[in-house]
Amino acid sequence: MEPTSITERAERILHDAASTLMTPTAGECLACFVARQLDEFGCDGTHRFASHYRDSVAPRATALLARLSAMGACCCDCEMFMNTYQPATRLWTQAHEFVDSDDCDAWAEPAPPDTMPPCETTRRGSTQPCANWERVSRSRYR
Ligand SMILES: [Zn+2]
Ligand SMILES: [Zn+2]
Repeated sequence: MEPTSITERAERILHDAASTLMTPTAGECLACFVARQLDEFGCDGTHRFASHYRDSVAPRATALLARLSAMGACCCDCEMFMNTYQPATRLWTQAHEFVDSDDCDAWAEPAPPDTMPPCETTRRGSTQPCANWERVSRSRYR
């Protein structure tokens, strides 16, 4: 094997960083991809990340946006995480008792994770989210 020079390696790292910006990583699912892009770039009120995902990974999923809309993400990418998908329950912090700043016993409700674990990956061409996500259940908002 040829030894790789530091510069070459640095260039490759830079290149990788640039190309990971808008491209789903290998096997990365729709939900993880869109969540990652929203974190990075924010929502612009459109489905730009969902459509980008479809174009690069699942070009045959022509009904994707219509399907997302039907599931509650009617107008933009971030709605996908308000109305459609949420981090899987197993990733949430457990409800627990704690002592608050006034020295009182308090009860912490389960909370979604601050950062999502790496994508569990999905089949190429699929627009289903991986095991890190589950459908938002309407019953939570009763
Ligand atoms: Zn939005
Ligand atoms: Zn995923």
